[in-house]
Amino acid sequence: MNGPLTKKLQVGWFTFTCCEDSTIVFTEVLNDYWQEWRKRIDFVHARILQAKNTEGALDVAFVEGAISSEEQKKRLEKIRGQATWLVAVGACAVVGMPSAQRNQFDEKTKQEIGFILERFHHLDHVLSVKEVVKVDAELPGCPMDPKQFVAVVNKALQHFAIAS
Ligand code: SF4
Repeated sequence: MNGPLTKKLQVGWFTFTCCEDSTIVFTEVLNDYWQEWRKRIDFVHARILQAKNTEGALDVAFVEGAISSEEQKKRLEKIRGQATWLVAVGACAVVGMPSAQRNQFDEKTKQEIGFILERFHHLDHVLSVKEVVKVDAELPGCPMDPKQFVAVVNKALQHFAIAS
């Protein structure tokens, strides 16, 4: 049993432009792993789990979604600066698609949506996570594969020497 001073894995879950399906998969995984993980993991930032979230140093940041605005770019760079590992989660984060569909619009369609991009300060081109920051691991798929997610969490628990 862990004592109160035992280090727990500091984990953040962050969402950018996407449908948040990997977030749903994440909560489904918790149905099976919550009792075990709550003794070993602090989910310091995960808006799906709690209203009060902390910004700060993280062992692992899971990042879901593509990057579609300057504000999102800055936020992602900040998360990268705070996290030892950064894991891109799901196809939108890993390759940009399907959230980046507008990158492939023809010129006429691009012109038609131009005022929306301007109004909401969107980037001309939607980016994958690795086009903005260094990524340490990727969980591809749309949405992510829960088994691969559990494997990355277990790898992190081992790597950061979190007691069982
Ligand atoms: S990768 Fe697919 S499931 Fe995941 S956020 Fe994007 S659209 Fe949704």
